[in-house]
Amino acid sequence: AKELGRNNFVYFAAEMNAHATQRLDMLNSLRHAVANNEFVLQFQPKIHLATGKVVGAEALIRWRHPLRGMVPPGSFIPLAEESGLIIEIGEWVLRTACAQNMAWQRAGFPAIPISVNLSPRQLVRGDIVALVAEVLHESGLAPHCLELEITETVVMRDVDKSLVILKKLKELGVKISIDDFGTGYSSLNYLKRFPVDTLKIDRSFVSDIADDQDDAAIVKAVISLAHILNLRVVAEGVEAEEQRRFLLENGCDEVQGYYFGRPVPSESFAGKWLQAKEE
Ligand code: C2E
Ligand code: CA
Ligand code: CA
Ligand code: CA
Repeated sequence: AKELGRNNFVYFAAEMNAHATQRLDMLNSLRHAVANNEFVLQFQPKIHLATGKVVGAEALIRWRHPLRGMVPPGSFIPLAEESGLIIEIGEWVLRTACAQNMAWQRAGFPAIPISVNLSPRQLVRGDIVALVAEVLHESGLAPHCLELEITETVVMRDVDKSLVILKKLKELGVKISIDDFGTGYSSLNYLKRFPVDTLKIDRSFVSDIADDQDDAAIVKAVISLAHILNLRVVAEGVEAEEQRRFLLENGCDEVQGYYFGRPVPSESFAGKWLQAKEE
């Protein structure tokens, strides 16, 4: 048994080493990606459920890796967050999303808000308010055309600090939405105090609403809660007609999901989802 334990340890150490090396490789190529601008944004439409109209777009980052192709955010955002690289990456996302929104407006498309995901680190860093103000000023984008998506976990970690930051962001005129709502823990009391505009119901609740009574009840409750608090409510991850119908029947305001449209590059987004204003 002693022998085995020892071998296990050696094996474990080797594996850990391989893991650490892999992480370091990944970190190096992520640094390289930041320096060489290997990121792109895709855009997914937000649809007003009752009318079917496009009422917004969420900007979602992808890493165009020279060898590995398109890398989804789930594979690098956690490392970017841990290493601090998210600060630079997030700044690029914010600038690029605002610039893209302005470009659409200048090309004659109607103004719709663009939603940008803010990572935990970005929110609590000292100068997020100054950064957002600067990017709005530089791009010329109207503040109400920018929505910041933050997760409830972040907000709840340091309620007082978050409250101050969110209030200042609101004073700039941008919109704020709570992303992945239901997966963390929120206190109703804080939800009432926080200057948010929108709740986004997490995909994990939406995917089973047609078959799972509990999920259906939760989604209904969140929609009611949002409306009582005067918030808009968006369901994410809508993939099927029966989900769409359930959400419509229960008064959900907006939806996002593959059923309506997947995230697409900026060039395709305008052609597919935006209609030029009539002369
Ligand atoms: P999220 O903010 O919850 O974004 C929604 C994710 O669900 C996106 O995945 C989107 O492509 C996907 N999705 C949308 N509709 C459906 C659907 O009907 N079915 C399914 N199965 N999935 C759907 P994506 O683009 O891979 O992004 C994953 C996560 O990475 C995002 O989750 C967000 O937390 C993070 N992320 C993406 N872009 C950024 C960014 O620019 N900055 C930061 N900090 N995080 C980002
Ligand atoms: Ca989001
Ligand atoms: Ca989400
Ligand atoms: Ca999610």
